[in-house]
Amino acid sequence: MSNLNARVKVRIPAAELARRIGELAAEINRDYARSERLVVVAILKGSVLFLADLVRQLTVPVEIDFCQAASYGQGQEPGEVHFKKDVDLPLRGADVLLVEDIVDSGWTVRALLDLLRNRRPKSLRLCTLLDKAEARVVEVPIDYCGFRIPREFVVGYGLDWGERYRQLPYIGVVESPSEENP
Ligand code: 5GP
Ligand code: MG
Repeated sequence: MSNLNARVKVRIPAAELARRIGELAAEINRDYARSERLVVVAILKGSVLFLADLVRQLTVPVEIDFCQAASYGQGQEPGEVHFKKDVDLPLRGADVLLVEDIVDSGWTVRALLDLLRNRRPKSLRLCTLLDKAEARVVEVPIDYCGFRIPREFVVGYGLDWGERYRQLPYIGVVESPSEENP
């Protein structure tokens, strides 16, 4: 077994992630101070590390739930996106905050926002750690954004490459791919 870190070049160090997530949490605390019911819906699996760090800095009461999307077709084509795992909590009348790891073409989040909107929440907003704005194909309103990044495939802090690298405490790019990876 080799050391994962040896193959990855750091793009956003852990301390920078922590600092920015603190700022996002402060904004969310302010914006939802008068919310009667805030449900944070995280998109599996990439956003779990972000979710865990974000909610630990929220002082407003939150309920946490998860959904997972499956999409057929990516990139320029409108991928057919559906719920692979649906939310369990009722969302009607709640303030819902969708938490994503990265918005790339925008298809995934666009479809999930449409699906969640059908549940008649009181409000629906999107919080993403990363925004690859240059890659956007469909417009997506981002309410809270951690970092804008260039068009480059990143891993770590929940983001995978063939299910690996999610464990890294920072965002990075794989420099010398191992032959064990896709
Ligand atoms: P979209 O539907 O916006 O094109 O795709 C979003 C999804 O693609 C993200 O939730 C993520 O799973 C995946 N994705 C997009 N860009 C990257 C990236 O740079 N690294 C990783 N690991 N996944 C990405
Ligand atoms: Mg994802």
